[in-house]
Amino acid sequence: MAIRAFGGELPLWVDEELEAARSDLGTDEGRMRLLNRLAERNVAEGSGGPFSALTVHRGTGEVVAAGVNLVLASGLSSLHAEVVTISVTQARLGTWDLGSLEDPLELWVNWRPCAMCYGATLWSGVRGLVVAGDGPELEALTGFDEGPMRDDWAEQLEARGVSVRVGVLTDEAVAVFERYGATPDKTVYNARTTGGA
Ligand SMILES: [Zn+2]
Repeated sequence: MAIRAFGGELPLWVDEELEAARSDLGTDEGRMRLLNRLAERNVAEGSGGPFSALTVHRGTGEVVAAGVNLVLASGLSSLHAEVVTISVTQARLGTWDLGSLEDPLELWVNWRPCAMCYGATLWSGVRGLVVAGDGPELEALTGFDEGPMRDDWAEQLEARGVSVRVGVLTDEAVAVFERYGATPDKTVYNARTTGGA
């Protein structure tokens, strides 16, 4: 099989949830409520893990894209919510450099990015990162291995012009991970889960 094309497709229901929440997105809490709803629906739909992200213009507050983790839907291990959301945003705005925009973009995520998405955030050009929380709760409750994050991850982003804010509706995000952890028959798609070391 000489397959050369690969990719993911944002499910229609993500944009439907975004539209339904539009009037609630003017506040930090409203944005995080949408992220938590998208994360839970994503598990129910079977598309991927309980993870979601938003890109928001810092000046106008306009949301460009919402995205969810699509690892299970796509069969691609790199399609975490941040990568999906950044990619959809770049496709919609027609640029690989989100740092070139007159009104800078912030990336909102329902927890601190994993090791891969930390890098993807840097490469995208977003100028801000807002997360519900950054502690060990995600890994402890869900079983996902987020990879070797630096202790000074936030300072490293700040040093590259990406502002970092942690702690919006933290308890609600943790509750999503708790419910996911209690979900029977879930696929925790860490690689190396079967076979040899
Ligand atoms: Zn990730």
